Amino acid sequence: MSTEAKVLAQKIAGILESSQNILMTIHESPDGDAVGSVLALHGVLKLIGKNVVMFSPDVIPMKLRFLSDWDAILIDEKKLHGKEFDVLLMLDCGDKARSGKYIHGTKSYKTLINIDHHISNDMFGDVNYVDAKASCTAEKVYEVIKELIKNSKLIIPPDVATALLTGIYDDTGGMRYISTTSHTLNIAADLVDSGANCAFVSENLFFSVSREKMELTSHVLSTLTFEAEGKIAHMVMTKKDLETTGAFAEDSEGMIDFPRSIYGVEVAFLIKEVAHDKYKLSFRSRGTVDVNKFCSNYGGGGHKVAAGCTISGKLDDIKKDVVNGLRKAL
Ligand code: 5GP
Ligand code: MN
Repeated sequence: MSTEAKVLAQKIAGILESSQNILMTIHESPDGDAVGSVLALHGVLKLIGKNVVMFSPDVIPMKLRFLSDWDAILIDEKKLHGKEFDVLLMLDCGDKARSGKYIHGTKSYKTLINIDHHISNDMFGDVNYVDAKASCTAEKVYEVIKELIKNSKLIIPPDVATALLTGIYDDTGGMRYISTTSHTLNIAADLVDSGANCAFVSENLFFSVSREKMELTSHVLSTLTFEAEGKIAHMVMTKKDLETTGAFAEDSEGMIDFPRSIYGVEVAFLIKEVAHDKYKLSFRSRGTVDVNKFCSNYGGGGHKVAAGCTISGKLDDIKKDVVNGLRKAL
């Protein structure tokens, strides 16, 4: 960990210690990194006597409901109206709009802290603890928590360790992605020593699938199409697929790994219908195409090898436009 990073972690711990009312928010369609990070910080801040409110612009996915206090995260933004906070702490958000309209527009806080690991992060905070080399936001949250517990002579509680390990596991695919470093593994080792259990986290994240999700996967896989001599693969998930299978929108998570792992595929994308003529796209690349850069053309972002964006228009036009763009980027 660099000296600069340590100074930032200390600074954030100091701001949190001198604040009383803290609002923490995460991104839409929250994943294990976002939810694990917010629950871990919540656990420690409560221990040191802070008033903490957690907010998510979307419901917490079923697969993350094994984490303690997941149901303390507010989903209804109206519960935030009229409340004032010393700090707004945004976690795992590449830009301020990622936590929904209310958070984007609110001025009901004194200091804005941005803790994240997206390369596309636009440094929207008053304090920005952003590290694109970190495997996940939970790594950065761990550093802040280390400062907080050092100052108050605590140890990392097992529930907090589990939440952080969930963040790491979800964003590294169980330590399989290129972002996994020795630092990631050292943090994970400390979390296991603090009471987190790898098998428990992995069982919940990777081996707990509903029948509805499997049905949905089968529908989506049937749309698999190849372009550019097999270098591009794409799939489509419609709202009708959700209706016919009874699956949730969140159940699309992980599906992009199927086309991404096919021999010869350099870049894969999944188009998800979110409203009439409005689609959310998820991209995965083996490295040749910088999908963060590609998504920035559509107002999105993420990482070089995993990114997303929202596009309005007709499905066929979007497919053509994206495939043409990717052909040029290959
Ligand atoms: P996923 O495909 O898993 O939804 O997202 C891949 C990565 O891109 C994640 O790190 C996610 O936070 C980021 N991402 C997805 N959609 C968007 C978007 O619309 N804007 C930005 N800035 N990042 C996104
Ligand atoms: Mn993340």
